[in-house]
Formats: sequence, C-alpha cells, structure tokens
Amino acid sequence: MQRAIRIAAAATRRALSSSAARASPPPPRGPLAPGWGATRWLCSGREALSYDVVIVGAGPAGLAAAIRLKQLCRAADTDLSVCVLEKGSEVGAHVLSGNVFEPRALDELIPKWRQEDSPIRVPVSSDKFWLLTKNQAWTLPSPFDNKGNYVISLSQLVRWMATKAEELGVEVYPGFAASELQESQPMMLVLLRMVPKGKLFNLV
Ligand SMILES: Cc1cc2nc3c(=O)[nH]c(=O)nc-3n(C[C@H](O)[C@H](O)[C@H](O)COP(=O)(O)OP(=O)(O)OC[C@H]3O[C@@H](n4cnc5c(N)ncnc54)[C@H](O)[C@@H]3O)c2cc1C
Repeated sequence: MQRAIRIAAAATRRALSSSAARASPPPPRGPLAPGWGATRWLCSGREALSYDVVIVGAGPAGLAAAIRLKQLCRAADTDLSVCVLEKGSEVGAHVLSGNVFEPRALDELIPKWRQEDSPIRVPVSSDKFWLLTKNQAWTLPSPFDNKGNYVISLSQLVRWMATKAEELGVEVYPGFAASELQESQPMMLVLLRMVPKGKLFNLV
C-alpha cells in the first residue's frame, strides 16, 4: 500500500512537471473545510500536496492522533484529509524499542484490537528484578506491576497501527522528513502529549 502511494505520487509528480505552465494555485479554503481531500498543486514549479491535517512522525502518538481524527470525522459525518509524514524508510524503521505495553489507551482507540491480527500477543507472565554483580545475582522485591500488560515490539505495533490508519483513509508517507512549517498556508496544529503512566499516548 505504502509502495503504491509512492508510485502514485511519483507518477503525479511527472505528470504535473510536464504541465507546470498551466498549473494554478489551489482555491481558497478554510483550515477545516470538510470533504476536500488532499489537493495537489504547484508552488514555485514544485508539486505541493495540501492536507487539512499533517502529522509529523509515524510513532504511536502520531498514528493514534491520525486514527482518532478519522474516527471523529466519521462520527461527525464529515471528512478531513489527514497525512502522516515519517522520516524512516518505512513505518517502524526508526522505532526500535522492545516494550512492555500497557493496553488501556489502545482499548479506547481500537476497542476490538484483541479480535484482530495485531502484534500484541505475549502477556507478561511475571516480573523479576535482579541486582547483578560480577559473580552474583540478587533477587530484589519487584517495583513493577505488569499484570495485564504485554511484551511487544513497538516497531511491529506502529506498522500495524499504520495499516489501521490507512484503512480509515489516512495517507502515510514514509521516507519523508518534515523540515519546516509553511506558515503562509492555513493550518491545523495537532499537539501530542505523551503520558508516561496510565496511558501510552493522549491527544490534547
Ligand atoms: C529503550 C527504550 C525503551 C522503552 N521501553 C518502553 C516500555 O517498555 N513501555 C513503554 O510504554 N514505553 C517505552 N519506551 C517509551 C516509548 O518508546 C515512547 O514513549 C514512544 O515510542 C513515544 O512515541 P512517539 O510517537 O511520541 O515518538 P516515537 O516513537 O519516537 O516516534 C516518532 C516518529 O517520528 C519520526 N520523526 C521524527 N522527526 C521527524 C521528522 N522531522 N519528519 C518525519 N518523521 C519524523 C521518527 O522517525 C519516529 O518514527 C521506551 C523507549 C526507549 C527509547
């Protein structure tokens, strides 16, 4: 799917570069005008893609934001074009952590994830806390309580979340690093906050 998007983007780029002289800027629009979808136009001879919401980073926070936005759009019977830019060559390429995963936030975001083919499969069976010296290992009382949590690969989780986002109509572009804000365009700013305890991510 992501490969198909890149091929389509390249084909569009070729088509647009041959008709650059005919291109005109997009019609005026409000930042939240519903139903527009992404518009393609040329800016200083370069192709530009215009979205209602651009999210930088296909980590858990960015993808959760994209999924939630599209869910809210569906509930409100409207649409926003949403894209996620990821500087890694593919989603998950820069998200390398093994992870003890607390699933409450995902329960809220995708309530039926347990019935799906998600990469969250290994429940934590016990916690052990050791003090290791050169020759000995001391068992200490565990400060952790991971009952109900899972051991996952975060990289696999974000790949799966990206497919869920795409199913909702989000466009995910790996291989694109965001470098600057184009402040002349109307824009919507999404603020993401990581909550270290309780929820893995929150949209504020
Ligand atoms: C070693 C380690 C162990 C951890 N263990 C746990 C754990 O057990 N349990 C737990 O809950 N949490 C754990 N964490 C924390 C958890 O990994 C982070 O809280 C979480 O990944 C943060 O998600 P995020 O979406 O905010 O950012 P990230 O996961 O960092 O994702 C950000 C994404 O944005 C991309 N990006 C950055 N800049 C740009 C740009 N300019 N343009 C385009 N893309 C960009 C990056 O490539 C990346 O894919 C651990 C973290 C580390 C480092």
